[in-house]
Amino acid sequence: NTFDSKVALVTGGGSGIGAAVSRLLADGGASVVVSDISEKAAQGVVDEIESAGGTAAVFVGDTSDPSSVEASVAFAVKTFGGLHLAVNNAGIGGPSGLAADIDIAGWQKVIDINLSAVFYGVHYEIPAILAAGGGSIVNVSSILGLVAEPSAVPYTAAKHGVAGLTKAAAAGYAAQGVRVNSVHPGYIETPLLANMPKEVHDGLIAKHPAGRLGTADEVAAVIGFLLSDAASFVTGSQYTIDGGYTAI
Ligand code: NAD
Repeated sequence: NTFDSKVALVTGGGSGIGAAVSRLLADGGASVVVSDISEKAAQGVVDEIESAGGTAAVFVGDTSDPSSVEASVAFAVKTFGGLHLAVNNAGIGGPSGLAADIDIAGWQKVIDINLSAVFYGVHYEIPAILAAGGGSIVNVSSILGLVAEPSAVPYTAAKHGVAGLTKAAAAGYAAQGVRVNSVHPGYIETPLLANMPKEVHDGLIAKHPAGRLGTADEVAAVIGFLLSDAASFVTGSQYTIDGGYTAI
């Protein structure tokens, strides 16, 4: 199997894209730490993986707290003997409004969870991955890490930051066998998009030339490729998974 004898850490692993990645990695033979702020969500994914014959463990923590991220890496090493693969995926949508209308606390919260937390991930994961002899990190950005949505100011800024952080970390560790890439999904049908009025949902579909939104499994497939040895010369790259959203 592709991920036999690999240990993986997936943040926000309890739902949506993170859950799909956790299942894909476990199906491929990895031991997976499913990290989430929601114990119930993470436990649900671990239960699913274990009943399918895979290996996984729950870690409950808040990725915007650096000590919690440090503890999640230590937990992976202690529980499964090392760390080779990491997906920094946990994120929130945040407040909507134009730049002049976003309150400062709303800005700060999105930067903390969608950008600083990804830095904490890379910061603590890299030494563990180096100690294991190398590996691969994928940071989950967005199409809004490549282009803007005027009503999603903090989200757009944080996701662009993730792209830059990814490139800097990739260049810094490429010679030592740690690859770091970002993925940029278009709008994906996950709980993040739940409770959206039908006309807003239809408006989003219209922005994707594919004529539909994406699925978490379609994003997980690309993340799985980037984590695998098939992507051994791929680092510092930005993979769009957007049904053509940024092509037009
Ligand atoms: P989701 O809401 O289904 O899952 C996110 C998970 O992250 C949840 O289980 C949640 O409990 C967890 N989480 C939230 N804040 C956390 C924190 N501070 N610490 C730890 N865990 C936390 O969302 P999703 O759609 O699967 O999104 C995953 C990632 O993909 C996010 O970074 C999001 O910005 C990005 N993304 C999503 C879409 C989309 O349309 N759904 C598009 C592009 C990018």
